[in-house]
Amino acid sequence: MSNIDLLLKRHVDGVDHGAPTIRTPVPSLGIAVLTCMDARIKVFDVFGLRHGEAHILRNAGGVATDDAIRSLTISQRKLQTREIIVMQHTQCGLSMITEDSFKDEVEQATGIRPPWAIESFRDVTESVRQTLRRIRQSPFIPYTDNVRGFVYDVNTAAITEVEA
Ligand SMILES: [Zn+2]
Repeated sequence: MSNIDLLLKRHVDGVDHGAPTIRTPVPSLGIAVLTCMDARIKVFDVFGLRHGEAHILRNAGGVATDDAIRSLTISQRKLQTREIIVMQHTQCGLSMITEDSFKDEVEQATGIRPPWAIESFRDVTESVRQTLRRIRQSPFIPYTDNVRGFVYDVNTAAITEVEA
């Protein structure tokens, strides 16, 4: 049995009953959260989020890739969100690799050098600042007055705001 089968079983036994009482895809708090895919981060718990309140966008690092910008653009222009939280974290996998070495590794294994940036970083605070700048400077994202960045400590759950 694969772990996917395991999860399908958990679904049958589980507690998800859909969202019959939430009549709209518009997040009720008007917030989008961009964060890392790191399995240690329980995004709903970090902010006490409730069902239907926010868009949660995750990728490796929680960085403003083109696809993150795409989703934020749709989130604001079609689903009425107005505020953005960027949350990266301590001990991120992206701080443990470098752009060139990882691209080399992928190229050696596949024969194809990735055309996309790995977005690796040394300093998580600086990576948050970079992400904030990309969001604020995006011509596609209309509401940037309330875009705030944070570093989440995976050991203590403390969140520290990053000033732009
Ligand atoms: Zn991470």
